[in-house]
Amino acid sequence: MKIVYVDNNATTKVDTQVVEEMVPCLTENYGNPSSMHDMGAGAGKVLKKARERVASIINADPDEIIFTSCGTESNNAAIRSVLKLNPGKKHIVTTMVEHPAVKSLCESLVKDGYRTTFVPVDKKGRLDLDKLYSSLSDDTAIVSIMWANNETGTIFPIKEIAEKVKEKDIIFHTDAVQAVGKLNVDAADIPFDMLSLSGHKLHAPKGVGVLYVRKGVKYSPLLIGGHQEKGLRGGTENIASIVALGKACEIATEFYEDENTRVKALRDKLEAGLTSVIPKTIVNGDTESRLPNTTSISFEFIEGEAILLMMNEYGICASSGSACTSGSLEPSHVLRAMGVPFTAAHGTIRFSLSRYNTEDEIDYIIEKLPPVIQRLRDMSPFWKE
Ligand code: PLP
Repeated sequence: MKIVYVDNNATTKVDTQVVEEMVPCLTENYGNPSSMHDMGAGAGKVLKKARERVASIINADPDEIIFTSCGTESNNAAIRSVLKLNPGKKHIVTTMVEHPAVKSLCESLVKDGYRTTFVPVDKKGRLDLDKLYSSLSDDTAIVSIMWANNETGTIFPIKEIAEKVKEKDIIFHTDAVQAVGKLNVDAADIPFDMLSLSGHKLHAPKGVGVLYVRKGVKYSPLLIGGHQEKGLRGGTENIASIVALGKACEIATEFYEDENTRVKALRDKLEAGLTSVIPKTIVNGDTESRLPNTTSISFEFIEGEAILLMMNEYGICASSGSACTSGSLEPSHVLRAMGVPFTAAHGTIRFSLSRYNTEDEIDYIIEKLPPVIQRLRDMSPFWKE
């Protein structure tokens, strides 16, 4: 069956050039970089090269890169490090629309006695900057704000926020998991102290991530063990995946232009093609400041899960804006924070494209989806033409 994969904010296909660089790390040069022999030294060499490549995509120094197992680990490590090193400060600032890797952590920290401000967003998903700045106090240990939202693609003004937060001498962390590879992320231009990224969002495998920690920023490791990563993250390095991430970063830089022109045009074509023929649709998020590959569209009065299942019959892979938690279908916290009505939030689909998508695939979705929506609406007791 034809497969049209438009779920790239969930995970991406590993680039074949990336796989080619990984294989020898698994089958020939599989040494442990800590070992005192040629195989170990070989692993150390490729690790160094990968670190340089990753640093380069965010214009950082290789010494500022700590390899981790995923974006979730990087976010946890960043926030927990700052709290541990500042025991007198009990306030965290984040947003209502973070990925659970930050949001759930901050909620659990509230139970541990921390005070968290979850800054709200408006109906386009734009952050309430006044609320953010007025929440900062002498007690604030860290501000952690995502660069771009995984569900709607909305991009936050990270440069302005980082500068304002740094004026107050507060540590600023950004979850840039959805931004790196799609947007220009420049550590020399934007004064974030810490940044998280994840391999599987940019055509490297799952299970590898990075925490960037700016030189001079104090850091206390989450995983304590061996002396790997200069003692900042214990655990034998996942060399093959780290090498993969290095190569993926190099390739992403080459595709930056394509992502922001061709992929963006395909996204716009998909969005216009669907919203012009299907009535009662809402495009969620800030269309003026959005990831080039993402569109979140609500089809009112039907269920996202039903749409996904019917699209799946045609080989179309996307995501819904709901999370099926403990048997009940809850609309996403992001759409709820934006005040998207329940009747729309439930019928939300996120399409997230990549460099592998073609115009034929977009035409295919534009052809197949409208009758699916109509069929579901015909069955819906809430739908009235
Ligand atoms: N942060 C954001 C914005 C994400 O979209 C994701 C994954 O979807 C994560 C963090 C978690 O990354 P990982 O799957 O590597 O743990």
